[in-house]
Amino acid sequence: MNKVLSKSKLILASPRGFCAGVERAVEILQKAIDLLGAPVYVKHEVVHNKYIIEDFQKKGVMFIEDINAIPDEAVLIYSAHGVSNKIKEIAKNKNLKIFDATCPLVTKVHLQVHKYAKQNIDVVLIGHIGHPEIEGTMGRYESEKGKLHLVQFEDDVENLDIVNPKMAYVTQTTLSVDDTKIIIDRLKKKFPNIVGPVKDDICYATQNRQDAVKSILQLCDFLIVIGSKNSSNSRRLKELALKNDVESVLIDDKSDLDLELLATKEMIGITAGASAPEILFDEVLKFLLTHGAIESKSNHVQIVENISFSIPKELKEL
Ligand code: SF4
Repeated sequence: MNKVLSKSKLILASPRGFCAGVERAVEILQKAIDLLGAPVYVKHEVVHNKYIIEDFQKKGVMFIEDINAIPDEAVLIYSAHGVSNKIKEIAKNKNLKIFDATCPLVTKVHLQVHKYAKQNIDVVLIGHIGHPEIEGTMGRYESEKGKLHLVQFEDDVENLDIVNPKMAYVTQTTLSVDDTKIIIDRLKKKFPNIVGPVKDDICYATQNRQDAVKSILQLCDFLIVIGSKNSSNSRRLKELALKNDVESVLIDDKSDLDLELLATKEMIGITAGASAPEILFDEVLKFLLTHGAIESKSNHVQIVENISFSIPKELKEL
């Protein structure tokens, strides 16, 4: 084997990879397919990872966007990103057998939005236009007098024209911690009455993976992020590196690696987004070690995670 990486050291971010919400969504889908058999339908990709999606497709899972296309009384799973009230209503009318794999931390935001809507409080939702989590959360806001406003960038705050004296903000769970803080500070400055969660709605997994990457970035001249291109939290990890002037790539698996480029790097950080399974990380690590890279023993922050979410009782009992 060509030891082309003999001058490169590797530093592994921790925690990385699967979060509790993704673990749960994957387990729900696996249980459903094991117990009920194919086909099982999922509204959107159950989690944003190519490997996971292709694996489930081989087992007879159909990932769909339009639930009208599903036969009545079929089995449908809501992805970890959650769904709108409208989707729930269509599913009910079609008499579908539903298992909800929405991450409980997304559900928490849905409940906040629902509560504010009932109180006719205007809600500023901070998040990425078109992301399924944002579509689901927007679709939970049904108010007689209040309005929901979507903010994606810091400068969007200036264009907000809210007359309702009662207003609140919520956020997507997988945003950049630093960018979101800037947006929230701007919101609070412009609307001193605005209320929000004690911290923000960015989930523990997004926060911890960003903190873990920050703790190794100062040592790295390159960062490999394992995750799919449509994974929001994985993209934020790559952006974090770039903001800190560290070159970075977002890869689905080891086949995306450029050995020639890596051979020019002395300290390579490796992490994985919350929807990337550990098997992909192990394969990347093995590939780099096989090509001569050495694992660094540098000390850096290691956050221990011990969060898990249970699957629906109904599936346990099936
Ligand atoms: Fe839940 Fe956060 Fe994981 Fe999304 S990234 S599934 S919100 S724990």
